Amino acid sequence: MLVLNNVHKSYITGSNSLHVLKGIDLEIETGEFVSIMGSSGSGKSTLLNILGILDSYDEGAYYLNGTLIKDMSEKKAAKLRNEMVGFVFQSFNLISFKNAVENVALPLYYKGVNRKKRNKVAMEYLDKLGLKDWAEHMPNEMSGGQKQRVAIARSLITKPKVIFADEPTGALDTSTSYEVMETLTEINNEGITVILVTHEHDIAAMTQKIIRLKDGKISEVIKNGELLAFKDQYIKHLETA
Ligand code: ADP
Ligand code: MG
Repeated sequence: MLVLNNVHKSYITGSNSLHVLKGIDLEIETGEFVSIMGSSGSGKSTLLNILGILDSYDEGAYYLNGTLIKDMSEKKAAKLRNEMVGFVFQSFNLISFKNAVENVALPLYYKGVNRKKRNKVAMEYLDKLGLKDWAEHMPNEMSGGQKQRVAIARSLITKPKVIFADEPTGALDTSTSYEVMETLTEINNEGITVILVTHEHDIAAMTQKIIRLKDGKISEVIKNGELLAFKDQYIKHLETA
């Protein structure tokens, strides 16, 4: 459902150009649970933001569900994001002066759903994530794990096909991280594609496919414990040697 062909991305600041993605080829199928790994600055967030239509790319092609995502107007990108994707961030990105249920309901506000309806649906999602009793609480009254589950509920309320999570456990302790990963696994088990960025091996090991970025390229793909891309490259290397 997500296909990248030779995707390049550079950042231009002043007279400097930083070539971050140098030809990414990638295919992610519906229902996969994927992690993107790589050292700090390797372009993980850049790749995730391109996949989530939050950022553009310079060269190559990206198809989401068969639609070419390229040179898209912000209006069309926003519409696709609304229909297709949900986001979860390391720092939760909750609105501090709104309570849990209002935070979860926010995407429906932007869709023009009236308050009564959106709060009702938001309560259902909070309940699903075990946070019904926290509906009236403000973010600063909740633990990191609870805040991240509120953020996950918010990402789910528009019924996305794909959830993108950028270091969703990066600000959490180990046991809370594992709880959040359990939640993401349950969501994936319901058929939603989940793609997350992490630099923690134990977190990546909980996903089905690990994609490693190095020097602007994918250096290896591990699926269910088996090396795929690296192996292909190695075989290619042998063939041409
Ligand atoms: P990661 O998430 O793997 O740590 P990023 O994708 O955030 O890496 O960033 C990759 C590189 O691009 C880094 O060197 C970062 O400083 C740079 N970068 C990221 N965003 C921008 C931007 N908006 N403008 C200029 N440089 C950026
Ligand atoms: Mg990042």
